[in-house]
Amino acid sequence: MRARLSQSLRAWVWGVVGSALLTVGAWAIPDFSGAPFPIYEKLHNLPPAQRTPAVQKSLLERSGEVLAAGLNRYALDVRYANTIQRICANLEPNLGSIFPQAGGIELRFIEQMPPYRGSYPFQSNYLGRYTPTAERLVLSSLAVNDSYNMFSLHRVILIDSFLLDALYRVAQYKAFTGNYDNPYEQALASYAAGLSSYAPARGSVNKFSDISTGLLVRPGASVDNPYLPFNRSYNIFSTRSGLTWDQRSFHSIEREGGRWANPAHLPVPKGYDPNLYEREAQRSFERLLAPILCHEISHCLLEHARQRLEKTFSLKTRLDRVMSAQEANAQVRRYLNENLSNQQEREADIYGAKLGRSIGLRVQDFEEGFWFLNLIEKSQSKVNVIDSHPQYIERRRLVEQVYSGQDVSWAQTQHWSERESSLESAPQG
Ligand SMILES: [Zn+2]
Repeated sequence: MRARLSQSLRAWVWGVVGSALLTVGAWAIPDFSGAPFPIYEKLHNLPPAQRTPAVQKSLLERSGEVLAAGLNRYALDVRYANTIQRICANLEPNLGSIFPQAGGIELRFIEQMPPYRGSYPFQSNYLGRYTPTAERLVLSSLAVNDSYNMFSLHRVILIDSFLLDALYRVAQYKAFTGNYDNPYEQALASYAAGLSSYAPARGSVNKFSDISTGLLVRPGASVDNPYLPFNRSYNIFSTRSGLTWDQRSFHSIEREGGRWANPAHLPVPKGYDPNLYEREAQRSFERLLAPILCHEISHCLLEHARQRLEKTFSLKTRLDRVMSAQEANAQVRRYLNENLSNQQEREADIYGAKLGRSIGLRVQDFEEGFWFLNLIEKSQSKVNVIDSHPQYIERRRLVEQVYSGQDVSWAQTQHWSERESSLESAPQG
């Protein structure tokens, strides 16, 4: 499973200079497969002084391409637009004080289809006010549905609908029972993990405007059907959780008094009454989602993708002294295909915590988000030994350190266990 997942992930983020939240599920977009280290190949011959601006320009272009490809293939999910926009509006004024290089950066969530220019599919230069720029980080939610994930790459963040729906259900259950460690969450986690090995016969939808409340496609689009087969989801829940569900409850997400599309058919917790608990669930959802967004935004604003690429150039120079050009290229490709380093993940956790603290999130909010992600990873049949996201306890400790005012700087994280590529220690010329 690992091989299949990482291959698809590669196809999607072309060398993981982007970051994925989990190793569960994968977003496969054909446009990106067979594109080995594209920026590297284009830029590696430039003199070092010209590289940094060239890398930044390429990463911006690539952010736009990733976004356009996502919009062409998947339905746009605007069901959680209010919540995500509220989080972004709270974060935006604080970015400059936490990321000194990132003052004035705008966070823009796509809450309607980009303007049509009469030409399809979407191109990266047709995204209008949703074009990623040096000063604009664009966030988007897409109904991918055979994955459970979030991706960030330089100036774009893509959030899977299923992640949002599952967190929403966790929030509902918490509002309902007052705790977050419960059989319902376990069932959700099994379900998320179960989907990662699921290759759906997806079919496609092809219809103007709304395909369901809150899911949008462009005119004339043929996008992947965002709905999972009902019996699939029903079976996973009933067999893995031992719980039974009211079938009707599979078909909508109760939200703000309205009934919204529920493409992954996630059942409402049994006994849940939206009239009593919905307002608290909304608040709880925002507090679960915000820490995750803070982490991904940190990857972007800390320029992790650029760092990874630039490291590649020096790596290649070293490798060229000790092996053939062909071998060196193969090594470089391997390096680019690995996950972001552990160090970068910790750095995103530290800065994510700083961001979260700046908008009044509590340590508990981080803990609950980490807890659920951890449940999903535990539910996977195979433990992924090279996953570079720090584990639940460790991550919580890091957040506590930031909140208690300790200066947990990047340099201080260096002594922690390194699981970076052995290529890091490639022979020095
Ligand atoms: Zn990360």
